Amino acid sequence: MQYISTRGDAPVLSFEAAMLTGLARDGGLYLPESIPPMLSADIAALHGQSYDEVAFRVMRPFIGDTFTDDEFREIIARAYEGFGHAARAPLVQLDQGHFLLELFHGPTLAFKDFAMQLIGQLFEASLKRNGQRVCIVGATSGDTGSAAIEAFRGLDAVDVFILYPHERVSEVQRRQMTTPSESNVHALAVTGHFDDCQARVKDMFNDFEFRDAVGLAGVNSINWARVLAQVVYYFTSAVALGAPHRKVSFTVPTGNFGDIFAGYIAKQMGLPIDRLIVATNQNDILHRCLTTSDYTPDGVIPSISPSMDIQVSSNFERALYYAYDQDGSAVAQLMDELRQGGFSVSQGALQALRESFDSGRASEEETSATIARLSEKTGELLCPHSAVGVHVAETHRDPAVPMITLATAHPAKFPAAVEAASGQHPPLPERMSDLYERAERVTRVENDLGAIEDIIRERTGH
Ligand SMILES: *Cc1c(COP(=O)(O)O)cnc(C)c1O
Repeated sequence: MQYISTRGDAPVLSFEAAMLTGLARDGGLYLPESIPPMLSADIAALHGQSYDEVAFRVMRPFIGDTFTDDEFREIIARAYEGFGHAARAPLVQLDQGHFLLELFHGPTLAFKDFAMQLIGQLFEASLKRNGQRVCIVGATSGDTGSAAIEAFRGLDAVDVFILYPHERVSEVQRRQMTTPSESNVHALAVTGHFDDCQARVKDMFNDFEFRDAVGLAGVNSINWARVLAQVVYYFTSAVALGAPHRKVSFTVPTGNFGDIFAGYIAKQMGLPIDRLIVATNQNDILHRCLTTSDYTPDGVIPSISPSMDIQVSSNFERALYYAYDQDGSAVAQLMDELRQGGFSVSQGALQALRESFDSGRASEEETSATIARLSEKTGELLCPHSAVGVHVAETHRDPAVPMITLATAHPAKFPAAVEAASGQHPPLPERMSDLYERAERVTRVENDLGAIEDIIRERTGH
């Protein structure tokens, strides 16, 4: 299996190289040269299999000869052993024909653990074999950073540095980043906003001397291996509701388009998905684009679902690549236009996108009202991101097709918004109930490239 860039002008890579590289040299995102189909009989045979076994069968065709079957099974087992639910991604029923896929039983209580835990083990296995060591650097507004730290803590071949905006993440998110005691984990609290953190990470990748000296690597949401890991739970949940003999639809709380794009891949592989519904909060660039064809970012308005507060949805580029019939130069052209302010999707491409995706948005009031209503009617406490999904799903329901809404975070990760909406305080799961007592370790740093690079060089001995 070979990987190609969405902009059509970068070296073709193996799964392993695409994973370790992240972003393609032409600025594009890696995609498999072709999507391996899964036969109806093979999907039917997933019934009754464990999450880990389904993960192996779904992902195996994508990894080529990077790992042997035994190695890959071992990687998957290690990735998911720390989850707090035997099913990894359990389904609960909310209403007649409406189900919630709980993706928040991983170590940091958000769905990003599914991808990060796997990528941690993939990196470790690959680097150790090649005798390499890398330095993972990432910026976070909260969830990605804690998921990355949990995934890489204590691994031998990796140091992990996470930049977060000082005093601008929730207390749970901060503690998840500052309480791991392993010496390869470094939480950096930067004076500034998330955008500043992201800009400094970009600067580091563009500082080639520094980049090569410390062995910089990234694991942001455009990494193909992260998308691939998320394809698995579309299979486990659809099969639980009767696939391949019955169709299902999915509603996905969306920011960077990684999670919902994994659903698109599942559908292209042959999983009978009827509709894929993009659910946005008030930062609704994706919903606007899918309804009007216009993709022009305007300023982010902070919301109670902060992990979906985005201006530019990086993985949308992958959907555009298919909507433009795999024409890399057309995608490169759109991305050039985006740098000038925005672009408009062609009529043909818009039609192709609409064949795969529906969309909807939830206002702040609708999000809070959904948390309150679900808590009263079903006893289920939703995090604000999941509530955006449930609201949009309810307005898009086709009674003939079961709907699965992805619950992307545990309510205890966003206690203030949940309590304000429902009057209920969401408790942390037992296994992390001492989070508020654990000692914190964090380095404060100014929003200054040189200062940040100095810390990284010093800690890694370069
Ligand atoms: C990251 C995140 C999202 C958005 O997922 P994308 O893959 O970026 O679309 C939604 N909810 C939560 C809780 C998240 O952490």
